Amino acid sequence: MRSVEPSIRPQPGVPLSPLTTLGIGGPARWFVRATTVDEVAAAWRWTREQGLPLFVMGGGSNLVIADGGFDGLVMQVAIRGTVVAPRGAETMLRAGAGETWDDVVADAVSRGLAGLECLSGIPGCVGGTPVQNVGAYGQEVADTIREVTVFDLGAACVTTMPASACGFAYRTSRFKHDDAGRFVICDVTFALGSGPPGISYPDLAGCFQGRRRDSVTLAEVRQAVLAIRRRKGMVIDAADPDTRSVGSFFVNPVVAAGVHARLVAASGEAAPGFPLPDGQVKIPAAWLIERAGFARGARRGRAGLSSKHPLAIVNGGGASAREVVDLAAEIKRQVADRFGVALRPEPVFVGFGGDPAVAYLQKDIG
Ligand SMILES: Cc1cc2nc3c(=O)[nH]c(=O)nc-3n(C[C@H](O)[C@H](O)[C@H](O)COP(=O)(O)OP(=O)(O)OC[C@H]3O[C@@H](n4cnc5c(N)ncnc54)[C@H](O)[C@@H]3O)c2cc1C
Repeated sequence: MRSVEPSIRPQPGVPLSPLTTLGIGGPARWFVRATTVDEVAAAWRWTREQGLPLFVMGGGSNLVIADGGFDGLVMQVAIRGTVVAPRGAETMLRAGAGETWDDVVADAVSRGLAGLECLSGIPGCVGGTPVQNVGAYGQEVADTIREVTVFDLGAACVTTMPASACGFAYRTSRFKHDDAGRFVICDVTFALGSGPPGISYPDLAGCFQGRRRDSVTLAEVRQAVLAIRRRKGMVIDAADPDTRSVGSFFVNPVVAAGVHARLVAASGEAAPGFPLPDGQVKIPAAWLIERAGFARGARRGRAGLSSKHPLAIVNGGGASAREVVDLAAEIKRQVADRFGVALRPEPVFVGFGGDPAVAYLQKDIG
């Protein structure tokens, strides 16, 4: 093996499952934690020298790692630091990609900065949030991200991208699709306001019935969101096996209004749907999954569905990646057969090569 730059020391054969919330998958052939932009660049140069593929991870809360692991270098971005500075009527909060997301949300709330409070309790790190435009309870990071600093592996340089260049859409961005694997996110800047908090989402609005919106505090919204999420097993809790997951395994499908009308007719009940400004309708994937015959708590070997939420596939203890992926494919097939709707998976699959079940999961058709 050729020389390694002094600032990084990749470790061989590091188990990845303990670094993920799902707790499955094999080892990384090489693993390194990068704490500075220079270390990110050095790790990337090292993979070029060694002729190895690179996979970038944060908190491991949206990853399904193959049983065989990853045959290359896994780099965990651990760049820390937070800077808060006023700019005009807004306050800019810049956080390193390796900061724990929920700590950043809690900090913003405690400073009276509005815009992230509904995203309380989401696991993972700051750098993972732009990737799938993380969202919950009526907010998504695209609403507040002002710019993202990246190391561009294509051009081997650091660059700052305005939010308009990030390709944000519902649960996706250019980092997840068109340019997957090209950019290492080093820090993210959020433009936050002084309130009032976001409480438009029905579950959340229900918690504050009878209250004027401007009388509700950011801290109250954070607590309400955490309480709702805990009931659904959506806050990581070592004592709750339903949280050994990637959160929602599928995104809510967005379909043409005619498809939704056909679903209502076929199911014989009022299929829930949220009309979008472009005329399409967003359908809860959880509704489709339950109607396709998968009850909460259903088991397939050591994998299964959360007992609290049909959208979460959980590792019931010692599950393999194979079991998880096969269950997900079975769910997608049944939903497609019953409703003609193709579910799209939310997590990122690592080390699966051309695995047919993963290829099926990623197809746009059922
Ligand atoms: C219990 C639970 C609840 C959840 N609830 C929600 C929710 O409400 N809403 C929601 O949107 N998501 C939710 N998630 C999914 C997940 O937490 C988020 O997607 C999170 O932002 C992923 O961040 P991470 O740091 O863990 O990324 P990882 O899982 O490590 O990586 C995810 C993807 O981001 C990429 N990535 C990570 N860091 C970087 C970086 N610095 N540079 C470039 N690429 C990077 C990886 O390559 C990979 O493609 C939930 C997950 C769990 C387990």
